[in-house]
Amino acid sequence: MNEYSGYRILIVEDERDISKLIEEILRSEGFYNIFSAQCCAEALNIIKTQPPSLCILDVMLPDGDGFFLLERLREYSQAPVIFLTARGEAADRLRGLGLGADDYMVKPFLAAELILRINAILRRTYSKPEKMQRLKLSDRYIDFETASVVMKNKEKSLTAKEYILLKKLYENKNKIVTNDALCMALWGGGYYGYENNLMVHIRHLREKIEKDPSSPIHLITAKGLGYKLVTNDKGDKNE
Ligand code: CA
Repeated sequence: MNEYSGYRILIVEDERDISKLIEEILRSEGFYNIFSAQCCAEALNIIKTQPPSLCILDVMLPDGDGFFLLERLREYSQAPVIFLTARGEAADRLRGLGLGADDYMVKPFLAAELILRINAILRRTYSKPEKMQRLKLSDRYIDFETASVVMKNKEKSLTAKEYILLKKLYENKNKIVTNDALCMALWGGGYYGYENNLMVHIRHLREKIEKDPSSPIHLITAKGLGYKLVTNDKGDKNE
């Protein structure tokens, strides 16, 4: 049993033996809300009426393929998807992952591996973010709950974009976060050509969080790569 045991798992698989096997594996791990469908139409019906927490999709199905199903499924659900298929070619794997599947496993598969992957995806998708603390940066601190920068006698609000940027950098503090990852966090996909906008937001953020924005000590540029939020957990030296 684990904290995700009650989550709804949908198995889409036209071969009954395999479907049963997957179900048994899941049940032995404590999952009990398991639905199964043998074709795309049946799967979509379940997705509309009993939204699943996670879907395990076969690729070759009698009324379409799993790739098609994933696209249709996305009209109703953002649940994570694992492909579990006999088609192990790189092109299929890339296609599945390219469509936004969370994982791609090839039959025959190990029960233990399937469970590990399912649990990892559920954790990644549904775990509650750890409560964000106040982040101290030299003479000021960031209050994530109110999205503001608090200094001795004044407070500055962060814009939504600045907040997203800072949060992303904070989650990866003291590590480089690439320009791509930052643009993705800010604008989702299709952000090409937004690097200049990113620079503008970084500049504004520096004006709020740095004592001297022109020579930053916390929001550091990693040339050609991205940015890094430098912070010392034990609290920065008081300056
Ligand atoms: Ca099949």
